[in-house]
Amino acid sequence: MRPFTRSLLVAASGMLLAAHLRQACARPSVAAAHLPPAKVALTVDDLPTTDDRPAHLSRSHIARSILHTLKKADSPPVYGFVNAGQLEDGPADIRILKMWRAARFPLGNHTYSHMDLGAHTAAEFEQDIAKDEPVLQQQMGSQDWHWFRYPYLQEGDTLEKREEVRAWLAAHHYRIAEVSLSFDDWAWNDPYARCVAHHDTASIRWLKSSYLSSATESLAVGREMSNAIYGRDIQYVMLLHIGGFETVMLPHLMTLLKQKDFGLVPLDQAESDPAYQDDPRIALKYGGTFLEMMMLAKHLPPIPHPQTPMRRLNSICTRPIPARQR
Ligand SMILES: [Zn+2]
Repeated sequence: MRPFTRSLLVAASGMLLAAHLRQACARPSVAAAHLPPAKVALTVDDLPTTDDRPAHLSRSHIARSILHTLKKADSPPVYGFVNAGQLEDGPADIRILKMWRAARFPLGNHTYSHMDLGAHTAAEFEQDIAKDEPVLQQQMGSQDWHWFRYPYLQEGDTLEKREEVRAWLAAHHYRIAEVSLSFDDWAWNDPYARCVAHHDTASIRWLKSSYLSSATESLAVGREMSNAIYGRDIQYVMLLHIGGFETVMLPHLMTLLKQKDFGLVPLDQAESDPAYQDDPRIALKYGGTFLEMMMLAKHLPPIPHPQTPMRRLNSICTRPIPARQR
């Protein structure tokens, strides 16, 4: 198994937290109400690249397509969060980081090996952050790269670990790139590669519609959580991943954001929202977004919404391909 492929365990763990947060409750939904304009910073994790991709898509093509879509939407600079360890297996993928920089987009730290803090000590985790730094330094030159994104949004499964890593990050001048909107967009990449190999257009249609439904839901639920906690829209930060299906779906996602009146802002502007100074100070067995953690910390009732269709995503287009179709 490739080291950066997310395990089913992690997928299942995310679902457990999601299930906990999504228990039905009687709160009225504000999703359908008229909402004022909101702001969101887009961020892209797992650079240079992960997950399976269709045979016709090179890794450079994926990066080029994503950068093109973001530029076309007049996006302010989008942080790409890097796992430099990927370059051990694919040193040529450094070109993708160079493409990101050539587009004048910045890079940040996502640990060297995409380490799960829930499965490692704070010291191991800190070493893994530090090990990511030479590539960031090399690619960013004199520009600031001290933004950190926790892999799996896991900030610590014990309070001690959580506090220790946060102290280390502060001592090393990192700011935490908290996430407030996430819809498991990465989970569509492997199924898309399989369905393309099967020439299964009906399944690809479902992948597209389910991706957009999940994205739409996540915007509505994020806003509901923000209003439940802060009584207003905070400036949001959306987590996206680099992958083959984003070349197809990112243009649609940009249209969706426009339709829903989300204006794009840079990461430092979004994270300067005072909300992000709150520290939920909770230890979770599995990760979660900033808003999910704050909901738990404040004992607010969970917002009901459908779960990511992980079971279908994991099973779709998995039958063997007949030899004549390969
Ligand atoms: Zn990641």
